[in-house]
Amino acid sequence: MKVAFWPGCVSKGACPELYVSTHKVAEALGIELHELTEAPCTGAGVLSEQNPALADSLNGLTLAMAEKLGADLMTICSTCQGVLSNHNYQLTHKPERMERANAVLSEQGYTYKGTTKVKHLLWILVEDIGLDKIRSLVKRKLTGLKIAPFYGCYILRPEEYLGLREKPERKNYLEQIISIIGGEPVEYHGKSKCCGFPMVTMNRDKALMMGGNHIMEAKSKGADLLVTPCPLCHLNLDAQQPDAARVMKQTIDVPIFHLPQLLGLAFGFSPEELRLDHHVVPTTKALEKVELKV
Ligand code: SF4
Ligand code: SF4
Repeated sequence: MKVAFWPGCVSKGACPELYVSTHKVAEALGIELHELTEAPCTGAGVLSEQNPALADSLNGLTLAMAEKLGADLMTICSTCQGVLSNHNYQLTHKPERMERANAVLSEQGYTYKGTTKVKHLLWILVEDIGLDKIRSLVKRKLTGLKIAPFYGCYILRPEEYLGLREKPERKNYLEQIISIIGGEPVEYHGKSKCCGFPMVTMNRDKALMMGGNHIMEAKSKGADLLVTPCPLCHLNLDAQQPDAARVMKQTIDVPIFHLPQLLGLAFGFSPEELRLDHHVVPTTKALEKVELKV
């Protein structure tokens, strides 16, 4: 399967382990990644509020690039997914916005017709690759690992833009993948709550506690690790975890995996190949529960 790949900036900056592990699992699954190296940032939702016309043009350009390639647009960041889905919805439902954006895109030699589907890797795994194919590639079952899914918000809300009304099962894909690779999904309230990231600059302690509380709730239910489809959630839950522990005056010590790292581990890649040694919170204790020899 060929996809237009939009990695977002976080996977190429603060979380390079996500970019590397995405390439590993894509190759194993036969997903041909055509990276859109010329595409602009989505504006991370901020631009959509401040200057919707500019955000329409920027995201319209990315959507038009994928359309030209004749492939679905694959994201690996919930924020990119949310923003691109929002603008795809606006452009395809509001002709005046499409017309305004296309007037700008035509200067770049593009016209967006509105046919691109924006899909997070998580959705592609279940809807296009299929759980049977994933099961057939498992070389290292993650039996014994209790894994807490952390969706965060942008991959779940607003439902209308993300196609969740037509496909409500998308709210459960992480659990399906965890089960298929032998892990035990941990159920907890915080899995679909905000991690606190947008509040960091306004009220840092409160933001840290929001993320910390979700992790502690999962830990109290026995979680060995959390897995997330969003590198921004990862930054808040992993890189900020020591600060969250300090603010909360308690030990947290729960590793946070990116989705393709977890899948790659089940496919038999080594922790080093997946850069599981690249995290702030060590992944070693969780990895000790897994038979690493394949
Ligand atoms: S939305 Fe966020 S992750 Fe995506 S490209 Fe923009 S800043 Fe980067
Ligand atoms: S959970 Fe946090 S980082 Fe993830 S999408 Fe929501 S606010 Fe952003």
